[in-house]
Amino acid sequence: MLRKFLLQASIRRNFTASSSSFVFLRQCSSSSSSSSQIPNGHFVEHLENSAESPPSATISIDRTALYNPPEHSHEPSAESELVKNLKNIIKFRGGPITVAEYMEEVLTNPKAGYYINRDVFGADGDFITSPEVSQMFGEMIGVWAMCLWEQMGKPNKVNLVELGPGRGTLLADLLHGASKFKNFTDSLHIHMIECSPALQKLQYENLKCATEDGADENEKRINSTIAESPVSWHAMLEQVPTGLPTIIIAHEFFDALPLHQFQKASRGWCEKMVDITENSSFRFVLSPQPTPATLYLMKRFKWAETEEIARLSHIEVCPKAIDLTQEISKRIAIDGGGALIIDYGVNGIVSNSLQAIRKHKFVDILDNPGSADLSAYVDFAAIRHSAEEVPGASVHGPMTQSQFLGSLGINFRVEALLDNCTEEQAESLRTGYWRLVGEGEAPFWEGPDDQTPIGMGTRYLAMAIVNQKQCVPAPFQ
Ligand code: SAH
Repeated sequence: MLRKFLLQASIRRNFTASSSSFVFLRQCSSSSSSSSQIPNGHFVEHLENSAESPPSATISIDRTALYNPPEHSHEPSAESELVKNLKNIIKFRGGPITVAEYMEEVLTNPKAGYYINRDVFGADGDFITSPEVSQMFGEMIGVWAMCLWEQMGKPNKVNLVELGPGRGTLLADLLHGASKFKNFTDSLHIHMIECSPALQKLQYENLKCATEDGADENEKRINSTIAESPVSWHAMLEQVPTGLPTIIIAHEFFDALPLHQFQKASRGWCEKMVDITENSSFRFVLSPQPTPATLYLMKRFKWAETEEIARLSHIEVCPKAIDLTQEISKRIAIDGGGALIIDYGVNGIVSNSLQAIRKHKFVDILDNPGSADLSAYVDFAAIRHSAEEVPGASVHGPMTQSQFLGSLGINFRVEALLDNCTEEQAESLRTGYWRLVGEGEAPFWEGPDDQTPIGMGTRYLAMAIVNQKQCVPAPFQ
């Protein structure tokens, strides 16, 4: 099946993606810091002038591991709608907000959030993701989905859900690649979970959608003409109809979920919060007392070894990731199917990884919020533990993206594509392949040093959650 797919899938794209221009994968710091998490360089102030936390006790965070040092924007300082909104929330609250609230507001505020009104991907955007690097990525996810569908007993109706589909490129490549496997594509009901109207529009275009009148006058049916599959859009997974076996794909979605940051202080673990200074700029402060998110911190501690916790002075917890994993797992346990989560992250507690990226450079997290992407490492161990709490779901992985794509046959695919392309396309294929599965700087690169393709094959991890009645999914056997 795998080989057949790899050879049969059509050569489609012009391989224009990112071969020569400088592009920045979200987690693209220097290869030498592969295991380090990226600290941000803020001073954190204690909120209360108590004996335990004297006002002079500022804690500086080492930023030396940053490959690209944060830059402040030099744009005119007129306040954006989002900045005003954040300041109003803090003022009306009468105190600072959590980093999770800040992150959610910055990324997904329905009017002015970072993702809401624009295309943020590619050389002209802020960062690039694997589906934009090479068509092979979406095609390989297609191989994974078809193998799972076979294991599910080839049901004739399946929900194919993508969480946070960006430009829709992954699914477009998946559908193109799978178009010769009619039984599979005919079974698909595609559901896109997307908060951004601008990106929904791009997804509609990239999936080559057409809208038809439904049976009812007000009903519209949307089909992707790539594989004649019905497509619908939702704000959240709960809105996808239940009752059908479901395949869920989450690529670089978990890293954008709002997280809480905790810092060890003399009085114990304190939550890091965002406040405004007297001269009206943002700053970090530490909460004087336990916050509601401390419950999630306690939950995360239960899943960790004492020594692991003792080593840390910062911890990130992502309640939304925990809750979403449980929701995915329950759906799969009841309806059958499986989920694939691919993201950059670690198989353990994440310490201090939140980062902001604008125009392919790391920038200050608090600088001009809404104009830069915010994302963080994914704690795959927490995802595994959350899924394991759901009866009827089984978890596999994580494994590195390099192992995942390698085992699914990306090597055969790149060879098949290289057999039939121009020299320019071949260069694009080689650099794309390296970015997806390589590690560190590409050894074959002969172009300018600052454009050397960086392999992300070990920075990104893949994990699958499937219905326990099904066998172990490929390639986790
Ligand atoms: N998976 C894509 C895009 C990753 S960027 C790729 O790999 O190219 C994150 C995506 O998730 C964007 O499409 C963004 O608009 C969407 N998103 C982020 N937070 C969301 C939320 N809370 N609900 C729905 N979509 C969200």
